[in-house]
Amino acid sequence: MAARDNRRMSVSRQQLQQAFDALLQPERFKDYGPNGLQVEGKPDIACLVSGVTASRALIEAAIARRADAIFVHHGLFWRGQDGRITGWMRERLRLLLAYDINLFAYHLPLDAHLEVGNNAQLGRVLGWAADQRFGEQDLGFAGPAAFDGAQALADHVAQALGRAVTLVQPAARRIQRVAWCTGGAQGYFESAIAAGADAFITGEISEPQAHLAREMGVAFIAAGHHATERYGAPAAAGLVAQQLGIEHHFVEIDNPA
Ligand SMILES: [Zn+2]
Repeated sequence: MAARDNRRMSVSRQQLQQAFDALLQPERFKDYGPNGLQVEGKPDIACLVSGVTASRALIEAAIARRADAIFVHHGLFWRGQDGRITGWMRERLRLLLAYDINLFAYHLPLDAHLEVGNNAQLGRVLGWAADQRFGEQDLGFAGPAAFDGAQALADHVAQALGRAVTLVQPAARRIQRVAWCTGGAQGYFESAIAAGADAFITGEISEPQAHLAREMGVAFIAAGHHATERYGAPAAAGLVAQQLGIEHHFVEIDNPA
């Protein structure tokens, strides 16, 4: 590490990939896209940039910081894409390839990790520790909390995340257990109810959940897909960068969704 004064510490692409895989164990998940190295860049990495999504804005920010690799939660490739390299996809790939930047993406493995994952880190930001996992692939987290009602809980979440939230509030009920799952996990609401939660916090809401909240008497809070998922990437990339002695910067690209 003392070498940092003269030249930056660097690691090989393989070492970085192995460190991410060892931490996040992608082989344990059934996912919607490839986890790990999605776009191959230069063989040596001294500077790592992390962000939530491999958007053009994030790639441009990584170029400005002379990054050798990017680590994201939402990569470029998903099941259901038609595979054409046109328009926005062409531009994102063109920039990565032109600047020889490696793109690493970890989706569900980053949601699930018990310390650096999105769910664990959202719990940290909101002051909650999970004592239970629920839902498909055990991605949902649940634990004790104490709020006089759903509005008090929603106010707490809004304040902690610095943005307005959508609350569907059933009849007044003390909140003693909360369940949460970051991002677009509105489909986990019923398993959160089955797990005994008084309230469920995720990123997004769809039409059916409002009715379920009222009919089942469990509060639903949508606090933003991006806002709930911006804590895992810097935690995971920061830990790996620290282990390997390379430079790391998290770049926040605001997203109202
Ligand atoms: Zn997401």
